[in-house]
Amino acid sequence: MARDITVLGAGIVGICCAAYLQREGHRVTVVDRGEPGRGTSFGNAGILSPGSCVPMAVPGVISKLPGWLLDPLGPVAVRFGHLPSMLPWFLHFRKASRMKNVQANADALRRLLSQTFDAYAPLVKAANIPEIVQRPGYLVVYETDAEFRADSLAWRLRRDRGVEFDVLDGAGLRKLEPALAPIYQRGVYLLDQGYVTSPLRLTQSIAAQFERDGGRIERREVREIEVGPHGPTALLTDAGAMPVETLVVAAGVHSKRFASRLGERVLLEAERGYHVQFEAPGISLARPINSANGKFFATPMEAGLRVAGTTEFAGLDRPSNPRRPKVLLEHAKRMFPDLKTEVMSEWMGQRPSTPDYLPVVSGSTRYRNVFYAFGHGHLGVVSGAPTGRLIADLVAQRPAAIDMQPYRVDRF
Ligand SMILES: Cc1cc2nc3c(=O)[nH]c(=O)nc-3n(C[C@H](O)[C@H](O)[C@H](O)COP(=O)(O)OP(=O)(O)OC[C@H]3O[C@@H](n4cnc5c(N)ncnc54)[C@H](O)[C@@H]3O)c2cc1C
Repeated sequence: MARDITVLGAGIVGICCAAYLQREGHRVTVVDRGEPGRGTSFGNAGILSPGSCVPMAVPGVISKLPGWLLDPLGPVAVRFGHLPSMLPWFLHFRKASRMKNVQANADALRRLLSQTFDAYAPLVKAANIPEIVQRPGYLVVYETDAEFRADSLAWRLRRDRGVEFDVLDGAGLRKLEPALAPIYQRGVYLLDQGYVTSPLRLTQSIAAQFERDGGRIERREVREIEVGPHGPTALLTDAGAMPVETLVVAAGVHSKRFASRLGERVLLEAERGYHVQFEAPGISLARPINSANGKFFATPMEAGLRVAGTTEFAGLDRPSNPRRPKVLLEHAKRMFPDLKTEVMSEWMGQRPSTPDYLPVVSGSTRYRNVFYAFGHGHLGVVSGAPTGRLIADLVAQRPAAIDMQPYRVDRF
């Protein structure tokens, strides 16, 4: 039966939910305070990686933290004043890093992510943007063989789940990507992986098609949710109350407060990441390249070369940290000696991160008219369309194509 559905959030996740719900015949309204795709979905690395089934919480990761934090060019930074408030998240992260949980989380990730190309296909076709999805695979590079061997668990987790890759030496790497510095001795070529040439254009094109097909996008700030005995009745916005019948919360890193208002306790942290983008890089790449130790991707986007990644925990409201893009700039120059850095822009975004690296894609435990689609952390682009399709299954109360237990809102 067709319903009136409101989606809170017009990032890649909310827009994919809206597009899939509209395809089912529902009347869908999306509410966002900004333009579609201008939140975290704007500046990411754009990787569509069905093979990204290795959670961040793995055995040994916690013992690496002090070294990362002490290294000024390290991949992780923390604002120490923020640490006490993230203790519950961190304790759950520690639990998630036990081997039994790692295996289960890797399975759940693989099941979700392996749907990415199939789930995006109808949305990309309808929006007439076939060129935006490229599938050249990507490279992971290591400076030493020892670093590669230290990552063996990650490669085993991928191989055990059917992810295909070839291991290369330095010469093999530079044959594929001549712009790479000779410092890299080892690499891995992941085969069936892709990327989008503009994450912003992806979200905006799907949003524009959604509107052409009769969907509504309202530009409003949601300040509060009015809740009655049977669930939410209205969104209270800066432009007045909007009645709601069925609500999908897809507000990225801001979803925690809305979920809490609706009676759910979720563990969600703002995991800040940065990018530097070079409009005229003077080099070209045939595919994205991931630095295993720097924890960033260099992606050949349509607007230039984007170097995006790293992790910073500093809470929701702090201004961006000017040192972090500089770290990426240093890494980029080291990775590509001929890179031209004169025309450069910088960006900071907040990944909505759960401690077990799995999103919340779930019905509410309290109300039949509430659904959740947030917490996609590092993987919101690759899992955006699969999430939209699964939310349509949940709303229709049909069995989903995959087991939905691992993504439940009440698992924390
Ligand atoms: C540096 C970096 C690199 C990344 N690389 C990749 C990658 O290569 N591949 C990948 O798959 N993922 C990547 N990600 C992760 C990905 O970007 C995110 O998981 C994804 O963008 C989250 O999408 P979202 O729709 O949940 O959130 P958002 O894009 O943040 O959208 C949430 C929306 O909710 C709106 N909103 C929030 N509160 C309110 C309110 N009160 N009222 C109205 N509107 C509201 C916001 O305005 C926003 O538009 C990366 C992230 C970073 C930071």
